[in-house]
Amino acid sequence: MATIHVSCPDCHSTQVIKAGTQPNGTQRYRCQNPTCERTIFQLTHVAHGRLPETQRQIVEMALNGSGIRDTARVLRVSPVTVLRVLKKRAQLKLGQSRGAGHPDLRERRRTAGQGEGGRS
Ligand SMILES: [Zn+2]
Repeated sequence: MATIHVSCPDCHSTQVIKAGTQPNGTQRYRCQNPTCERTIFQLTHVAHGRLPETQRQIVEMALNGSGIRDTARVLRVSPVTVLRVLKKRAQLKLGQSRGAGHPDLRERRRTAGQGEGGRS
């Protein structure tokens, strides 16, 4: 009989028990270390579109001119995943450029305009 040594991905404890299966049949495990925040985990990453490595590859391929469907086919994720990652990246960049002084300028202009309106 082959045994698999299972340890918790968070605390690396081997106090782990089986904890049922996912709806698709893959085995779930539960960490029994009382100080560990992680309760249930699976042995392998199933959703590899969520891995940082995959997300970095998605952005890199987009920068090199690959289409969304190309990227999805090569990395074996869905086109929706590709779009989600790229949209998130775009929102982060927008937030950063907006934070670089624009609201301040707008605020100053508005208060200046109100002052003039009050005088006339
Ligand atoms: Zn643990």
